[in-house]
Amino acid sequence: MKRVGIPRGLFFYYYYPLWKSFFVNLGAQVITSAPTNCLTVQQGIDSMVDESCFPIKVYFGHIKELCREPIDYLFVPRIVSVERRSYICPKFMGIPDMVRARIKDLPPLIDTIIDYSRDNKMMDNEILKAGKLFTSKISRIRDAYQAAYKELQFCKALAGQGYTMAEAINLWEGIPQPRFNCDTHLTVGLLGHGYSLYDQNISMNIIDRLRSMGCKVVLPEELDKQAIESRAALLPKRIFWTLGRKMVGSALYMAQSQDIDGIIYVACFGCGPDSMVGEIIERKIAGKPYMLITVDEHTGEAGLVTRLEAFCDMLKRRRIRNGADHFSPHG
Ligand code: SF4
Repeated sequence: MKRVGIPRGLFFYYYYPLWKSFFVNLGAQVITSAPTNCLTVQQGIDSMVDESCFPIKVYFGHIKELCREPIDYLFVPRIVSVERRSYICPKFMGIPDMVRARIKDLPPLIDTIIDYSRDNKMMDNEILKAGKLFTSKISRIRDAYQAAYKELQFCKALAGQGYTMAEAINLWEGIPQPRFNCDTHLTVGLLGHGYSLYDQNISMNIIDRLRSMGCKVVLPEELDKQAIESRAALLPKRIFWTLGRKMVGSALYMAQSQDIDGIIYVACFGCGPDSMVGEIIERKIAGKPYMLITVDEHTGEAGLVTRLEAFCDMLKRRRIRNGADHFSPHG
């Protein structure tokens, strides 16, 4: 049985059920790296250039870990686009090349090009190309992909019920996840790239910290996709980054929601899209308390907790005074 390594980083949190099911349906065994820890981060920092954003460094740490495992292939897709007329950050396009350039003694890479920006024909060829590493039967590869896609839809449905994508993946893998029942008195909209929010090391476990402070956390995956798109379409120019548009649309949606007391955006230091998207959001949601938290490998836990506590205290006071003392810095 061939073994495929899948790093627990970047689009793992959006597509792992699809990728894993696809390879398993073709008779392979899938091995994932452990959840991000200090060693992962250090290995990533050591093997990636300083200028890179934090999630990319963490991804490299996961690859280093998998290189020590007995695997036959390492799945490092070249993600260009996951929908029409929209793109993913250019760093994703170069990842297989960066990995080959920076990490020695790599197993063979499966560097499937994921590009849905134009038509499905190219994707069809890429799926077949990856599948032929495991079987020569084209019908089996197509069936494997279709069945895997259903698994992904199942996980997304779970994420729509208030689970984070990380929790949904755990549930899908058969690991029970407790429902977080606390005496919620605040509702906070939390924005950021999934690979930052759902990686407990990168986000410093911000979701559970907010929950333990009595906040109900609303994530973009819980919101209606059409509603997000319609809010994002209110901007004078279309944002062509898929995740950036999702953040802006979600922020505008949350800003109009009476149920949401405040919005927190977790950005990554060194992230080009975040620097623009965060600024747009700040200017557009004038009526709602908003906090931008920038994370990197130097982020301190105490500083984060202090800011979260201060933000929650401010939301509570604002609720008591019915928002009368809120003045947006952008008017
Ligand atoms: S969008 Fe930002 S955080 Fe994500 S890979 Fe690109 S630069 Fe890094």
